[in-house]
Amino acid sequence: MRKGAAGSRRPRAAGSGPGPGPVPVAVAAAGFCPRSRRCPRPLLPLLALAAAAALLYSAWPGGERDTGTLPPAAPPPSSDHSLRQLLKLLDPSRLHQRFLRPFLRERVPGGPGSRAVRQVPHPRHGSPRLPYGCPAPMGAPCPQHIAGCLEALAWHVELDAFAAPTPRGSVTFTNVVATAAPGAARRLALACHYDTKVLPAPGFVGATDSAAPCAIILELAAALRGPLRRAKEAGAEATLQLLFLDGEEAFEEWSDTDSLYGARHLAARMAATRHRAGTHLSAMSLLVLLDLLGARDPAIHSHFPSTHHWFLRLVHIEQRLRRLRLLHAAPPDPPFFRLSPAPGPVEDDHVPFLQRGVPVLHLIPLPFPPAWHTPEDTERNLHPPTMEDLTRILLVFVTEFLQL
Ligand SMILES: [Zn+2]
Repeated sequence: MRKGAAGSRRPRAAGSGPGPGPVPVAVAAAGFCPRSRRCPRPLLPLLALAAAAALLYSAWPGGERDTGTLPPAAPPPSSDHSLRQLLKLLDPSRLHQRFLRPFLRERVPGGPGSRAVRQVPHPRHGSPRLPYGCPAPMGAPCPQHIAGCLEALAWHVELDAFAAPTPRGSVTFTNVVATAAPGAARRLALACHYDTKVLPAPGFVGATDSAAPCAIILELAAALRGPLRRAKEAGAEATLQLLFLDGEEAFEEWSDTDSLYGARHLAARMAATRHRAGTHLSAMSLLVLLDLLGARDPAIHSHFPSTHHWFLRLVHIEQRLRRLRLLHAAPPDPPFFRLSPAPGPVEDDHVPFLQRGVPVLHLIPLPFPPAWHTPEDTERNLHPPTMEDLTRILLVFVTEFLQL
């Protein structure tokens, strides 16, 4: 991804931008200008007013919003006891050992590391499937990590493989799309990218970029195995979908054509694929993109008025878990989810989906972790308690959203 205006790197906006009020203004989400950096300056005050109005409208309790398929906010878990029971579904050891460890390697698109963390196991190889879905002993590398684990969890797994021209020649990219209940009408999508950037020195493992987000998402899938299965059997209208995107990183200088290879391909493909809700893209009620997470003290901001009410749920869940001492983070620690305006826009995998009208929550710390795009972004850069806390907050969020 690349950072916008407030960053010290390359300023640019893409369907998002900081706003005048407590919530940043997302011009694209309001449908006025799909690429805010191209908006003529005289329009900006009008756009800001319109976005502020959209924000007020979207924040109004029970108000009709032009968010299409967004379901109403579910009530929080009925009691503190049920919340504690829910969190017991998580397993920190599984998160760090079984799910994170296999990602801590180079994962360049089309390369052996990429294949190793992605492949679907051959059905005739018949390795015994263990509880929680990884066909390898605890702590051992899982040779068919993403797709293998999710297939073992009985998810519907599809590979979206394609070749695309890059500054380094034609490269094969492969997105992994997993859906808990493919027949459901609507999807809450959690997304991350699993490729690593090619740095001058080999061996970049991208611990926050995005090994840790991938592991968090797999842990959520494992923890919710039972609730998702019961929801599927009950014919629930909404389900969980996971997008493991390839080719987020630029091979050379970030540009419209050298970045977001997997996200651009998948968003276009989903928009063109029929589904009972219209298309696979219109079935996506909300896309939650996780990126650069796993280091200590992330500061995550709301980027889009159309999904600010969902961001507020994250704020509320974090506050509640802290109050109940169900997070490692103690009250003096700054909150992960901040109500202050985002310091600047960030181009990331959400952009091709946002441009097609998908509501987006972009969970990325600003500023970026100091180790971003350096060889220091290793496991030592991760803060396990923060990873576990984020996983807990997201578990509650997903459970509320899907009313599991
Ligand atoms: Zn990166």
